[in-house]
Amino acid sequence: MKLRTKIQLFSSLFMLVLILLVNTSIYFLFYKTAADSELDQLTLQADAFTETLAENPEITNEEASDLVKAYLPTNGMIRVIQEDGSKIMEPARAEEYYRSLPEADYTTVESNRIVSGQNGMDIAVITKPVIWNTGEIVTIQISDHLVQLEETMNALFYVFVIAGAIMLVPVVIAGAVLSRFLLNPIQKLIHTMKDNTKHAKWEKINLENRSRDELYEMEKTFNEMIDYLRDNFEKQEIFVSNASHELKTPIQIVKSYAQLLERRGDENPELLKESIEAIDSEADRMKKLVEQMLLLAKNKQSATMKQVDLGTLSEETITTFRRAYSRELYFQKNAEDLLVQGNRDQLEQVIYILIENAIKYSSDKINVSLSKINNDIFFQVRDYGDGIPEEEQERIFDRFYRVDKARSRDTGGTGLGLAIANIITEEHSGELTVSSKPGQGSTFTLRLPVAG
Ligand code: ADP
Repeated sequence: MKLRTKIQLFSSLFMLVLILLVNTSIYFLFYKTAADSELDQLTLQADAFTETLAENPEITNEEASDLVKAYLPTNGMIRVIQEDGSKIMEPARAEEYYRSLPEADYTTVESNRIVSGQNGMDIAVITKPVIWNTGEIVTIQISDHLVQLEETMNALFYVFVIAGAIMLVPVVIAGAVLSRFLLNPIQKLIHTMKDNTKHAKWEKINLENRSRDELYEMEKTFNEMIDYLRDNFEKQEIFVSNASHELKTPIQIVKSYAQLLERRGDENPELLKESIEAIDSEADRMKKLVEQMLLLAKNKQSATMKQVDLGTLSEETITTFRRAYSRELYFQKNAEDLLVQGNRDQLEQVIYILIENAIKYSSDKINVSLSKINNDIFFQVRDYGDGIPEEEQERIFDRFYRVDKARSRDTGGTGLGLAIANIITEEHSGELTVSSKPGQGSTFTLRLPVAG
């Protein structure tokens, strides 16, 4: 069943039940009040009759019969019942009233109630004990058929049925308007999504002149999602094209050397040596490229985070560098417990990338420092190399971006190091920044929050 039909059906059914409940309650409340008022009326009449009897104790049966007729209700009868159950009199306004009243027993208890007559009509019945002219206690039963009330209730019933039916019309219309109001944006969304999938488009929903409700939020979120997907898709496209371009160069070099060897390798041992070295170096380069690309993909997945002592980690990494490179590498820290919440391997990767870059792009000493300020830990790598021009500083964090392509290639750079470091830093809720002046060197700062 369509959502539109469901909404309409549910709202109509709900209102129908509500109307039925309200109408039925009003109907029965009205009946109860009206019936009680009829009973009160009849009780007053019965009181007046018994009072007149009490004022005239010597009254004969004929006189009593006349008196009874005077008090006879419009649609009812009066019975006088003796102790043995026999009736002294039971005059009725009409034969039908007489017949429809249930049999009456002798009783000395006063009562007033509504009974259902044999013709289905309700009857108000009052019973009262009185002293008859013979001195014996008899039961007076006064009854009145509630004809007027019955007619009023019938009229009320039809009024409620017609009013209920009339009330349902706007309810059905309101249901249709509501479902239209709710479903139009959803249908627009479905249509745009289908269109985007079918024609490989990045179409968004027009949000002009829309009231700011939950549906607006849904459409806005959809538009944001489209932006996000398009950005990512474009980035992936650029990445794939850059990656294939980067891989093409070493493959081309390997291929050229292979062809050279094929043609002149046998007679030229010098060329053989040079070719093997070049092929080996290009294979290393391809290996590094592939490894870094895999690392980029892997770092997108969230790693397990633990408490890491950045002080110890930095010291260990610097020791490794000191052993591998004969460079002046200084390290200092201003606190002991430099704990961050993170993944040890990934943080080591960032430290490694920053120090390796300083080594690659400078030839002087390198200062590494670690400090704790308020709730942040700052890891800084300062070199005194060529530096990075201001306008390039933001772009060096992009994948495959290199300031000086030839130099970076000579030093074995791939243009992926800082992109990897940046992603890892973001995963650790930190920040990676650079400050650099051409000719004076660069300072890379990694800020990470202290483990809480
Ligand atoms: P690469 O593998 O080329 O070093 P990175 O992503 O690590 O790639 O760095 C991107 C570019 O930023 C480098 O090619 C280089 O031009 C520049 N760069 C990075 N670190 C430094 C530095 N310490 N000094 C000068 N330039 C740097």
